[in-house]
Amino acid sequence: MIFLLALAGAGTGLLIGHWSSTEFASSRLRDYSDRLLERATEVAQASVNTIANLSKSPNSVCSDDDLQEMRFRLFQREYLSDIGRMENGFLVCTAAWGRFSQPLKLPPPQRFQPSGVLLWANVQSVTDHRLNVDMAGRGNVIVFTSPRAFRGYQTPAPGFSGLILTHDGKHVFRSFGNTEGLAAEFARSPNWYQKLSSPLMTSNCSDKRDICVIASLSGASILEQPIWILGALSSLGAALFCSAGLAFFGWNTTSSLPQQIRSAIQNGRLSAVYQPLVRISDRSLIGVEALARLKDDNGSPISPDVFIDIAEQIGLITTITRIMARTSMEDLRSKLQGQDEFYLSINVAVADVVDPTFATFLDELTRDLDIPRNRIALELTERSTTDYEQLRGGVEALRERGYGFFVDDFGTGYSNLSHLAKLPISGIKIDRMFTQAIGKEAVSSAIVEKICGIAEALRVNLVVEGIETPDQASHVLKLNPQAIGQGWLFGKPTGVEAIFAYSPPAPAPAFTFP
Ligand code: C2E
Ligand code: MG
Ligand code: MG
Repeated sequence: MIFLLALAGAGTGLLIGHWSSTEFASSRLRDYSDRLLERATEVAQASVNTIANLSKSPNSVCSDDDLQEMRFRLFQREYLSDIGRMENGFLVCTAAWGRFSQPLKLPPPQRFQPSGVLLWANVQSVTDHRLNVDMAGRGNVIVFTSPRAFRGYQTPAPGFSGLILTHDGKHVFRSFGNTEGLAAEFARSPNWYQKLSSPLMTSNCSDKRDICVIASLSGASILEQPIWILGALSSLGAALFCSAGLAFFGWNTTSSLPQQIRSAIQNGRLSAVYQPLVRISDRSLIGVEALARLKDDNGSPISPDVFIDIAEQIGLITTITRIMARTSMEDLRSKLQGQDEFYLSINVAVADVVDPTFATFLDELTRDLDIPRNRIALELTERSTTDYEQLRGGVEALRERGYGFFVDDFGTGYSNLSHLAKLPISGIKIDRMFTQAIGKEAVSSAIVEKICGIAEALRVNLVVEGIETPDQASHVLKLNPQAIGQGWLFGKPTGVEAIFAYSPPAPAPAFTFP
């Protein structure tokens, strides 16, 4: 898959490279061709105007006045090198050379325009054989195009070439750069794959005069670029496609998380671990909290904070609670039937508490496994928002049957204390956020003290979550000698065998003077 993505990316990189390089080159070529046509039209216009003016001249041909007039006109025209008079195919006089004692035979015109204009292109000059000239004539007037008329176009920038020709393509006025086969190539209209390698071409025609331009630019195609540019473009494309592909598939996996959770539950990939609940004063194990663990399709664990939240949204939380209740009671059955005051705390959701069949489910389970109901406690996080009246009915029903009920993560939700006081709870669990601030942050430490006071006033049990250090343990102990502790200091969540083999860490030795 990655290989295909890289291949597609490399191809796309090259195509985008080709497209951007030819777009840039095309605009340069259009600019060149427009400028060339503009100049050619100006040169032609200068010739035509000069011929028209002199044709109307009343002076007799090649008289002093006529020569004077021609010199005046020549002086005004930067694109013309000479102006003359012709008679019967002979050049009789010119502004530059004056009257010829012997008229000079002109070569036959190469083209007769419908307007009556005769054209010569690149023919040997009759006045100086070393030169080649372009000429245009009508009636008895003839004009010579200046060699400087196309200054700046004679040697175009590398890769550029241009042709100035008539609309029908039969008469070429001028050519610049390497124009061999250009007109024929232009007429050919290449396929897309030929376009990749053939030079760029463009043409445009004047709407005033019989003049067109064909221009071409070679070297713009991607296939003509240096190998390092091809390598850089294809690598960049491949890298972009691969990262986009990975991001897409990653996103896709995340978006199917609900589906993964559903299939993990159906396929028995939900399991339970247990975290010790310890009486802080003597470190005795008095219970465990069952915590759910779930693996995705690849066997990687999904955080409970994530999958519990999603399970609540997609209506699977009650299934999770029931699986957890059954698994944990079966796992710990013998310990829950023993003489010690050992209890199992199971996390529940609002949906369980308000579900009238949940209490019956627990009754049947405890009866089947022969576990006293008072060894089972339920924990509901304080963050759950719901109607207190509705919740109270559920809590009362569970309490009446003998199950314990704890408010979990106390301090992180919005408990209205007057409502809480009316709920028949058996204990509160201080969230680890406050425990971990003990000794570090005055406000949170003070909250631990206040919550200890609330537990005392409500005459309920107090569990302090997240105890990681002996200092936190002794601080809590000073506030409430009966407090139950849960945290890494006493044990991380573990498999059930470790609970059966549990031996509490020794309390920190009391300080004595030597
Ligand atoms: P919780 O019920 O407050 O569980 C205690 C969480 O704190 C657990 O996280 C536990 O591993 C962690 N913890 C315990 N001692 C320490 C400590 O000393 N330091 C630190 N840093 N963390 C500690 P876990 O297992 O990731 O569970 C997160 C939450 O997911 C639980 O918070 C509970 O709200 C929810 N959850 C877990 N299992 C279930 C379940 O079966 N049903 C329901 N409804 N919720 C569950
Ligand atoms: Mg809990
Ligand atoms: Mg908690």
